[in-house]
Amino acid sequence: MTFADLKLIRPLMDAITHAGYTHPTPIQEAVIPPALRGKDVIGQAQTGTGKTAAFLIPFLNRWRPHTLKGPIGLVMTPTRELALQIATEADRLAPSTRFRTVPVYGGTGMQRQLTGLARGCDLVAGTPGRVLDHLQRGSLSLSQVRYAVLDEADRMLDIGFRDDIERILKRCPTERQTLLMSATVPDAIKRLVNRYMRDPVHLNM
Ligand code: AMP
Repeated sequence: MTFADLKLIRPLMDAITHAGYTHPTPIQEAVIPPALRGKDVIGQAQTGTGKTAAFLIPFLNRWRPHTLKGPIGLVMTPTRELALQIATEADRLAPSTRFRTVPVYGGTGMQRQLTGLARGCDLVAGTPGRVLDHLQRGSLSLSQVRYAVLDEADRMLDIGFRDDIERILKRCPTERQTLLMSATVPDAIKRLVNRYMRDPVHLNM
């Protein structure tokens, strides 16, 4: 399979080519088609497999210029490093220079994140603790979210983010698509899946 077979919008295809990606990785081949059709997806894969682009491409393919303050996409991820990597990958693959990602994470000053969120953005990639912090301050609203991703869900639960994740998902509209990426799918993850995902396809790489 090539990226051309996925019939993505032209500006996204151009960004993928510009990034030097010629062929989808196995997790991308598995996750992207059902996610493009709007399905909820559980992608069981390790890091370093291209999972970030696997969950970003379906979202970016649907993105159109808009006047909402947003964000319309939300990715929760366990660490600051991952939040920054996701933001970098989203910028690299963005179909338009108008597409904006704001990474939010703890252990650092608030001001830059507050300014970024106040300007409006398309995608927030953040650690659950800091996402919740912004929700409680009123600096972030999730009322426009249509695409939510739990990245490295098993690691987030290990860190103890379960309650935060649930509080955040409850603040997202129920009319949304949800993707969950995880190296393992223990019972605690299955409970999240049953509560917050709709008839997901489970892809085990
Ligand atoms: P990830 O597993 O998302 O952390 O991605 C691992 C690395 O693979 C990152 O440096 C990506 O930029 C790169 N990558 C993702 N998808 C592809 C692809 N289809 N072809 C080549 N490299 C890729």
